[in-house]
Amino acid sequence: MVGELRFDGKVVVVTGAGAGLGRNYALAFGERGAKVVVNDLGGDMKGEGKSSTSADKVVEEIRRKGGEAVANYDSVEYGDKVIQTALDNYGKVDIVINNAGILRDRSFARISDLDWDLIQRVHLRGSFLVTRAAWQHMKKNKYGRIIMITSASGLYGNFGQANYSAAKMGVVGLANTLSIEGMKYNIHCNTVAPVAESRMTKNIMPEDILSALKPEFVAPVILWLCHESCNDSGGVFEVGGGHVAKVRLMKTAGAIIRSKNQGSTPEMVRDNWEKACDFRDFNVPANIAESTDVACKAYFSVEEGR
Ligand code: NAD
Repeated sequence: MVGELRFDGKVVVVTGAGAGLGRNYALAFGERGAKVVVNDLGGDMKGEGKSSTSADKVVEEIRRKGGEAVANYDSVEYGDKVIQTALDNYGKVDIVINNAGILRDRSFARISDLDWDLIQRVHLRGSFLVTRAAWQHMKKNKYGRIIMITSASGLYGNFGQANYSAAKMGVVGLANTLSIEGMKYNIHCNTVAPVAESRMTKNIMPEDILSALKPEFVAPVILWLCHESCNDSGGVFEVGGGHVAKVRLMKTAGAIIRSKNQGSTPEMVRDNWEKACDFRDFNVPANIAESTDVACKAYFSVEEGR
């Protein structure tokens, strides 16, 4: 495999691109020829306030390096306006990076309605609204690359982040279905869980660890997944510190919990629980049909006395 991966002629919208990881993605796309919409509301980490400064600075930085970029200051809660900036300035949208994010960490009992709602509105609903606004244009052009940004906090859970974990797992579900619906239109949708130094992680990780987790290490994976030569869709990738790995769901081979002509009982479940939870024998269903198939096969194996 030879040749630089370029994005000449492609239009990319990066949400939350005024700082942190999003800024890095925007700069990297700009350096490789893409026309970049730098979206950022410019508020604080909890989602309060707004300012045009951060998006403007990134646009200037891209232009100074010879690239093309334009700013958009709307919240991702107004996804159509974000995408309209791409259409007004560049006539289309090829790539969407749903990166904008905030944190409102609290232990579960202390999460207020606002802590819950704002997090869902920015991360999950914002990703939905920006992507939906872009979708019809991608469909018409038979081309699209979409990235959802999740978090290890969503994939595994993290103390004090129930609101954020729920939203970040929500975008994984959204991407799972978009990758299926987008297939016939050449629209790919992948999900990345980054770990990197930013204002979000500044106070929660030790400094020596943070300095190893440069945002510059994440951007190359985002670019690869968005390139026209990358055929992946529906993947979830953990990226950080110069390392990338793919994550997927595993399912134990499981246990039969009924016998022929009989229902299931809690006692049968109890007596087979160890086997049901034993990952030494497992399946990796690639889709909903493969997963459902296991249950159907189990039913017929009992009926046929196998
Ligand atoms: P960051 O705070 O540096 O950047 C987030 C940017 O999003 C900010 O510039 C902010 O102004 C912007 N933003 C916030 N709400 C917005 C809205 N409603 N509309 C438009 N822009 C908005 O944080 P970061 O660490 O660069 O995070 C980027 C993304 O990566 C987030 O989705 C975050 O949840 C995710 N993430 C980051 C890490 C990490 O280690 N840094 C880990 C897991 C996930």
